Amino acid sequence: MPLVRNRLDCCICIEEQTQDAVCALLDVFGSIQNAHRNELVIPCASFHSCSFEQSERPRLYANHQGGYRVRCPFCSHNIASEFSKSVHKWRNGGDFLMTCSTCKERFPLSNAQGSPPFAFSRAAIILHDVELAEVGDCWHARFIEEMGSYQAIFRRVG
Ligand SMILES: [Zn+2]
Repeated sequence: MPLVRNRLDCCICIEEQTQDAVCALLDVFGSIQNAHRNELVIPCASFHSCSFEQSERPRLYANHQGGYRVRCPFCSHNIASEFSKSVHKWRNGGDFLMTCSTCKERFPLSNAQGSPPFAFSRAAIILHDVELAEVGDCWHARFIEEMGSYQAIFRRVG
């Protein structure tokens, strides 16, 4: 398991952008806080603190340090620059869509394939300053049980 050297945050994001998913995530947040308070096993071995974020429009959770690749879901062409331009447009009120300059397919920004992965989410649990860059088996199983699906995005900070 990769041991973390710089400060790393784990962003636990919902896949389905529904109110039910937001509520399930909020319940999970309560469970994590309880476990942290009672010194039980917590995701990512240890973390400094945790917080819950929620917004009307999805936010992009991604690792911006050290660069990342973005590929077209249809032709796998590198679309990193088109992607960041489209995200910028979307943040300024544009469509949540982009067009691949190679194959001309049009798709939602969330379908672009990030490496390392990123997520667009209306709600997220942020575990600040985690020890390990993985959630851990028992918490992974619990997230799946309570939320059906989720995405853990690791983000280098500072
Ligand atoms: Zn393409």
